[in-house]
Amino acid sequence: MIDVVSVVAGREISGTTGSVYRSKNPSALGQTVAEVRMADASVFTQACAAASDMKREWGAVPAPVRGRVIASIGRLVEANMETLAALVAAEIGKPFKEALGEVREIVDTCDFFLGEGRRLYGQTVPSEMPQKSLFTFRNPVGTVAVITAGNFPVAVPAWYIIPALLCGNSVVWKPAEYAAASAQALHRLCVASGLPDGVLNIVFCDGEETYAGLEEGLAKGLVDKVGFTGSSAVGARIGELCGRYLQTPCLELGGKNPMVVMPDADLDLAVEGAVFSGFGTAGQRCTSLGTAIVHESVHEEFIARLKKAVAQAPLGDPMADVLYGPLLSVRFAERFEEYCGWIEPHHTVVTERIGRISADNARPGFLGSPEEGLYYHPVIVDGVRAEDRLFREETFGPLICVTSFDTLSEAIDLANAPGYGLSASIYTSDAKAAFSFRAAVSAGMVSVNNSTSGAEAHLPFGGNGKSGNGSRQSGMWVLDQFTRWQSMNWDYSGNLQKAQMDVRE
Ligand code: NAP
Repeated sequence: MIDVVSVVAGREISGTTGSVYRSKNPSALGQTVAEVRMADASVFTQACAAASDMKREWGAVPAPVRGRVIASIGRLVEANMETLAALVAAEIGKPFKEALGEVREIVDTCDFFLGEGRRLYGQTVPSEMPQKSLFTFRNPVGTVAVITAGNFPVAVPAWYIIPALLCGNSVVWKPAEYAAASAQALHRLCVASGLPDGVLNIVFCDGEETYAGLEEGLAKGLVDKVGFTGSSAVGARIGELCGRYLQTPCLELGGKNPMVVMPDADLDLAVEGAVFSGFGTAGQRCTSLGTAIVHESVHEEFIARLKKAVAQAPLGDPMADVLYGPLLSVRFAERFEEYCGWIEPHHTVVTERIGRISADNARPGFLGSPEEGLYYHPVIVDGVRAEDRLFREETFGPLICVTSFDTLSEAIDLANAPGYGLSASIYTSDAKAAFSFRAAVSAGMVSVNNSTSGAEAHLPFGGNGKSGNGSRQSGMWVLDQFTRWQSMNWDYSGNLQKAQMDVRE
């Protein structure tokens, strides 16, 4: 069993609340993967102070040198890829192959940002005055507090931590407890890559303690930026709190991601995409498919093929080659059962069974012992309407909705109706339809003939509406989250030249 503790300024703090969270293996609930010694708000604030103390020193390290540390993190993560992926699989039940992909995403992120250390470009800008030069510089923001969900327990935090460090910021990271061992392992790999004490701190405390600690950190001027990945409800609270201190956080929130299937779509490809994005990671991705919006002319055929594909998909033990394993933790299983309660009499549940997989509620071909873990049947609900709760809200878990449409304009209205705006996809061979959809859909990320899930380390990732406040992670775009532009003008004319007033015609 792994002992998990907070680390502040390089010192281990073995819990201040007296409570211990047991991070269980969701595919074998009898196994405790880690015992997490929970800290309280004061430790979070202490970590902010420790990070704040180091921000100037770390920010003064030349960016190419910081890039070398990022390179080392990438190499260390790569060298430990299988071990870290196995820990992720054990702790949150993500299929091992998918967990390996998640760890690979960290390596890709490091590979991108190590080079950014040699760019981090500013600009020279022409002045309207003679003998005067204008410049821009990217400055680190300062201390960044990162709070993350546990469905991508190492890749999503790395999307914040790696660019934040590269840009010269110090960091306090608060991971989700149910993925604490994976978080601790990533933290250790980062620190072992040459980060001075206090530059990357990790604190394990629950949501309310985190909120209180963050509030104090903001009030004391110890936090300059917040990165939050989690639910829309908590994101709204974090946004309000940051707003009080005139800060714009990076908010990466939930999704109700639509997939439009046009009459000319390659139906098999669309079904494959629906299965992957609807049920991959047991539907517990922010980019998981919410509702398939299918043209009425192909609706029946789509449902028939989807039903068959889902029935044949292998489920079970995450170490085997499965579509999905268990839900992340008991909390998520309980919530999923609640979502299934939103099914209404006018809906048609297309799949044969619903609820927890067990000997009495068996899944043919299940790999492993279902009763040992938090395994749930996949659910396809047809006939949802725009006013239904199932259609409007994220249902984090293996459940997808299907509805139909007549015109593309109607499909776009349906895609935008829930008010999220993370990822959206369209299956069509008509370029005009694809581009019209792209322009009108509210999502920050659009796929054509591809599922709603999946990301690359150098393309902007993020959403709008209930999915986020427009911030973007990944690639060069995230640099605007972790640096602030500073402009400088240098007048070498020896005269006081006044902009606008002394301009020569
Ligand atoms: P959550 O309840 O919002 O929790 C996310 C993180 O915030 C956890 O570490 C949690 O700690 C912490 N937290 C909870 N309440 C807090 C508060 N009042 N103040 C400060 N921190 C607080 O989210 P979840 O249900 O665990 O995660 C799933 C959600 O995350 C889904 O909506 C999913 O779509 C979204 N997500 C979005 C992205 C993206 O990039 N857009 C990526 C992954 C997941 P505790 O665990 O202690 O509560």
